[in-house]
Amino acid sequence: MESKLPHVGTSIFSKMTALANQHGALNLSQGFPEFDAPERLKLRLTQHVQAGMNQYAPSPGAPALQQQIALLAERKYGAQIDAAAQVTVTAGATEALFVAIQTLVRPGDEVIVFDPAYDSYAPAIELAGGRSVHIALRSPDYRIDWQQVAAAVTTKTRAIIINTPHNPSAKTLKAADMAALQALVVEYDLYVISDEVYEHITFDAQPHLSALRDPVLAARAMVVASFGKTFHCTGWKLGYCIAPEALTSEFRKIHQYVTFSCFTPAQLALADMLNEEPEHVDALADFYQHKRDLLIEALQGSRFTILPSEGSYFLLLDYSAISSLDDVGFCDYLVEAIGVAAIPLSVFYAHGSSDKVIRLCFAKEDNTLLEAAKRLCQL
Ligand code: PMP
Ligand code: GLN
Repeated sequence: MESKLPHVGTSIFSKMTALANQHGALNLSQGFPEFDAPERLKLRLTQHVQAGMNQYAPSPGAPALQQQIALLAERKYGAQIDAAAQVTVTAGATEALFVAIQTLVRPGDEVIVFDPAYDSYAPAIELAGGRSVHIALRSPDYRIDWQQVAAAVTTKTRAIIINTPHNPSAKTLKAADMAALQALVVEYDLYVISDEVYEHITFDAQPHLSALRDPVLAARAMVVASFGKTFHCTGWKLGYCIAPEALTSEFRKIHQYVTFSCFTPAQLALADMLNEEPEHVDALADFYQHKRDLLIEALQGSRFTILPSEGSYFLLLDYSAISSLDDVGFCDYLVEAIGVAAIPLSVFYAHGSSDKVIRLCFAKEDNTLLEAAKRLCQL
């Protein structure tokens, strides 16, 4: 049978986690927290299970959760969201991204993607019959040149995918970026898919610049978020998409045939959590900033060059002073030689990259971070 995705193999996250397990290494590769979800969230989940809330939720989401999501967007971004008409709960951000892309992209359409890019964007565009047009951002600043973006727009361009805070670079988009994006999408009549799964993890008192803050942008945006990052429950696979009503109604036509609806007790537990303990969301940035700073401090004696981490739970290290291996080879070497698993950046580039940069995930216990840093300092 002819493959529909001939260029796609096993994801780097599965590969590196399997390697880490095989070597008993500290796993700073795949992005997931080493610590548990909040007690209240776990308690509410079991309570909803015991109370018999075990049948299908409405396809767009449990109304209580849609409501809490809309309130959160209002509290954080000043956005006026109609919960029933604009919020759809999905099986993680992954489903939201996939469905948003199927909603917008028609055969022959082009979608602008910034590399290094999260690995699910390009295959979803390809499956929709579209073509991803990649603009490579480079170490160390990963800055977007908006004139270059404008030059990449053609009559076939349908949408631009942004991701802030960014995985894997840990950079955030600034006000000037959002203004340039807005001008571009208005001029060329484009849509935006805004991947904001790390929205609550921005550092050094910087605000997260959601597409929802700007009504002009929000009118053209499908904003994707994930509870996995916010509530340390990546295994629950729950996220959502906020979009204008007309786009949402198209999005839901597809969503209903992908999953129909998501795990009911977890939706209700997340609604309780957002309602009863809003301070969890507000404390997340400081919680992760402490971990970022701990890891950076512990790596001070190393020969790595540490790149700035402005948001997300990732830190990039440039190893050009240590090895001439390419980044995939260097990550294989790290697991075997010192028992630390990391992610090579080149796999996030459609056309490759020779930058000598790796990604560490610092959503780990402090002791794990200190031990990993100690090993990395030996190199
Ligand atoms: N987008 C980005 C940038 C991510 O880092 C991730 C998960 N690591 C996702 C989307 C997918 O999120 P989820 O696990 O909720 O599907
Ligand atoms: N988003 C996570 C990361 O960047 C991994 C998600 C996955 O394993 N698919 O590491």
